[in-house]
Amino acid sequence: MGTAVQPITEVQFDLSDVEVQSFDTLALHAGAVADPTTGALLTPIYQTTTYRQEAVGKDKGFTYSRSANPTVAALERRLASLEGADYCTCYATGLAATTVLCLALLQADDHVVVSQAVYGGTVRLFNQILARYGVSAQFVDTADNDALRKALAAKPARFVFIETPANPTLQLTDIEQTARIAHEAGALLIVDNTLLTPALQKPFELQADVVLHSTTKFIEGHNATVGGALITNDAELHERFSFTRNAIGAIQSPFPAWLTLQGVKTVGLRMAQHSENALRVARFLETHPQVTRLLYPGLESFPQFELARKQQSTGGALIAFEVDGGVDAGIRLMNSVKLCALAENLGSAETLITHPASMTHADVPPAQREAAGITDGLVRLSVGLEDPVDIIRDLSQALAQTKGAE
Ligand code: PLP
Repeated sequence: MGTAVQPITEVQFDLSDVEVQSFDTLALHAGAVADPTTGALLTPIYQTTTYRQEAVGKDKGFTYSRSANPTVAALERRLASLEGADYCTCYATGLAATTVLCLALLQADDHVVVSQAVYGGTVRLFNQILARYGVSAQFVDTADNDALRKALAAKPARFVFIETPANPTLQLTDIEQTARIAHEAGALLIVDNTLLTPALQKPFELQADVVLHSTTKFIEGHNATVGGALITNDAELHERFSFTRNAIGAIQSPFPAWLTLQGVKTVGLRMAQHSENALRVARFLETHPQVTRLLYPGLESFPQFELARKQQSTGGALIAFEVDGGVDAGIRLMNSVKLCALAENLGSAETLITHPASMTHADVPPAQREAAGITDGLVRLSVGLEDPVDIIRDLSQALAQTKGAE
């Protein structure tokens, strides 16, 4: 007997009658779509451009894969659920998500306030692209509430964009206080939650309006894709994001969305292990004679340790540090690692080491880099899931090569 093909919108995995709705369970099941014909457990890769319509004006919710795609929609439901929100749209990259955010919310002569310490590509987008269309961005130390209040009083802003912890200095911004200050000034609060994921930090519980992700990092977690997401509880904002995404053509493709659906299943487990490994590596670096400056939000020595304890559940996976001998020593270290990979990315199962000044933040003007604390000798380590003993052994041999550098 043949099985009747049900419209996929009617066979979405329904968690409403399942008692347990914990983060790890949602990471596995939320938004999954049972294959209507075979019952295949994994949401299929709907590699299709278009969709057969029953009659003019009668479709099953999908018409063209630039507007929406069932595999991408499954990922969107899962990410919204993990952030504890109602809506999500996924994008080709994290920066495509930031671009849609700006095109959806801003017009010529609008102004925004952005954290001084953010991913270099975000700075480049505001300074070198959006500025040409009459959008101005002021980069402010958002860890300083008075500086933020002053900036918003001086010039009304459409939104305040923060990244906490910030890439690569790990500087934190108090999300709840920033939300209050932004809202009092009539601005939205956008939080880039890429570095912690909802496994470790929940911006909507702290009154954020929109959460942004580069899913390229810990969400997918395996160095296999690039992708982005915008998540919100506001139906009108979501409508604008969907409209803009369709209008400019920035949606994610089905295959990377499918890979991300697999990667995100273990995000809770991975973030816990990343954090445990990072703490072990940070404690090793903290006592190492060649290390002159160390920043890790999970260490008592971190300047904003109390804020880290308040708003995030662990110190996370990233460590920033400087080595005795400055830039030369840092470069020798990065050229000497064998297990850790010298690479432009963070948030993967493999440990990655990066030189922000010449790699991820090379397009940030030197004065702005300095103001944000991104010194030329700063090394960023994204601690992976290898046995921390092996990571420490590799760093130890590489640090030995830095002796005598000037
Ligand atoms: N946000 C943060 C914090 C990032 O680190 C990055 C990339 O490194 C992005 C956004 C941009 O994401 P993508 O590289 O996926 O475009």
